Amino acid sequence: MNPPHLPLGPGSEFDTVRAILSRWGAVAHGTGDDGAVLDVPVGCQLVVSTDTFVEDVHFSRAWLSAEEIAYRAGAAAISDLAAMGAEPLAMTIAMTLPEAWRGQVMSLADGFGAVARETGMLIVGGDLSDARVLTLGVTVFGTVARGRALTRGGAQAGQALWVTGTLGSARLALQALLRGLQPSVTHRERFARPRPRLKEARWLAEHGVTAAIDISDGVAAEASHLAAASRRPMTLHLDRLPLAPGAGYDDAARSGEEYELLVAGPASLDAAAFSREFGISLTHVGDVGASGGTPVVSARVNDTHVPLPRGHDHFAA
Ligand SMILES: [Mg+2]
Repeated sequence: MNPPHLPLGPGSEFDTVRAILSRWGAVAHGTGDDGAVLDVPVGCQLVVSTDTFVEDVHFSRAWLSAEEIAYRAGAAAISDLAAMGAEPLAMTIAMTLPEAWRGQVMSLADGFGAVARETGMLIVGGDLSDARVLTLGVTVFGTVARGRALTRGGAQAGQALWVTGTLGSARLALQALLRGLQPSVTHRERFARPRPRLKEARWLAEHGVTAAIDISDGVAAEASHLAAASRRPMTLHLDRLPLAPGAGYDDAARSGEEYELLVAGPASLDAAAFSREFGISLTHVGDVGASGGTPVVSARVNDTHVPLPRGHDHFAA
């Protein structure tokens, strides 16, 4: 086996990298060259996704510890692999660090190390730079058997829409933090340490799910993406959304950064077996219509049409 890392030359930037690598231990591997070389299992395709997290856009220093900020950035990026039904493989991390954050570098590294370890990802490279604002750039790589990726475009007429876990905690935590209040322990934990649903997604794929998206901007908004990509109308029953403690239907529909999954699959999925396996719920929240109709989402409460709640949009006016 190759040595874990190639030795780096002198310099304080590289001293920081050395310190980070020793902190990461076995969760990092194969760094120190101009690029990482990854083995992809025969018969598999590589799934790649990248995300950027910017201070005061995606998070505030006042809300979370440095370790939590990095954990959450890593989990959000890895959640996209779950949404594709991919097996975790590797990640790279690019950080731009203003002077004020230099003392927190090891805590940021600890957050990335923890989420990589918990999800089975190897950290295979990255980059450090000086900057005016903290940004965390995370690129994730996963593998999926050829032709078996869960895309947004795979929903089929007559399928049901299902949601993993419960929704609303992240929104309630964020609302409390924006008001300068402490969120409840449950809501804060969900906000600070979201769990990418990697194993859950693969179970769903094995049981006939053909389309998936992770919930980063709210389930109502994600349903619209699924409908557009699959070119089919969909119905979303807001009163069937699985609610986090203290959340209402509107909270659940709008809550972003949940990192639960919205999937399209058979109406006969065994939700009880899913819950026994993973300790979270699987809830039938809507249905996929036939192609040919306008690919929009019809929201319903008690089977009455209601306006579709809006999700988060970075570029909304
Ligand atoms: Mg996503």
